Amino acid sequence: MNLILFGPPAAGKGTQAKRLTAERGYVQLSTGDMLRAARKSGSELGNKVAAIMDSGSLVSDDIVIALIEDALAQNKSASGFIFDGFPRTVAQAEALDAMLARHGKPIERVVLLEVDAGKLLDRVAKRFAEEGRADDNPVSFKVRLDKYFAETAPLLPYYEKQGKVRGVDGMANIEDVAKSISAALDAR
Ligand code: ADP
Repeated sequence: MNLILFGPPAAGKGTQAKRLTAERGYVQLSTGDMLRAARKSGSELGNKVAAIMDSGSLVSDDIVIALIEDALAQNKSASGFIFDGFPRTVAQAEALDAMLARHGKPIERVVLLEVDAGKLLDRVAKRFAEEGRADDNPVSFKVRLDKYFAETAPLLPYYEKQGKVRGVDGMANIEDVAKSISAALDAR
C-alpha cells in the first residue's frame, strides 16, 4: 500500500514512518532525510539547499520531485511506500500522482497526524536541545509551521475529495499513535 503521512513539522511523521517500515516492510521516502543526507555528503545539491532548509523555507519543487523519482526507480519491488514530508505543495502532489501512475499503484491512504500546533513548539525546543538541528530553532520553526499552513495543509481537500484522508490523534503517546495509524490503514 502507498500512503502519505501528513501533518505539520515535528508532528511525529518520521517516528511513525520508521515504525511502519519495521512492521510492514514498506519503504519510507522522506525528502527531509534525503536532503539532510545530501548535505552530509557535501554534494552540490546538499550545498545548494542548506541555507534554505536552515531558514525553514521549502526547497524547490523540481529538486524534491527529482529525489522522489529516483527513489521510486530504485525501489521498484517495494510492497508499499510511506511518503513522509512529501508532497508539501500542490505541484508536488500532482507530480506524485503522475509518477505513481507510471509506477503502478496510486496513493491509498493519507494519514493526518492531528496535533496541537502550540504544543509543537515545546516538542521542537526539546529536539533542538537534544539534536541541534539548525531548522529547529524557534525562528526557523515558526517559518516551517507557517509554510505548512500556507502551502501544505491546502493539499488536504485534494485528498479528502478522493476519500483517502484518515485523521489520528497525534498528541497521544508513540505506541497509541502507532495503533491508531495501523487501524486507519486496515479499515476499509
Ligand atoms: P519536518 O521535521 O519539518 O517535517 P523535514 O525533515 O521533512 O521537516 O524537512 C526539513 C526541511 O527540508 C524543510 O523545512 C524543507 O526546507 C526541506 N524539505 C523537505 N521536504 C520538502 C519538500 N517536499 N518540499 C520542499 N522542501 C522540503
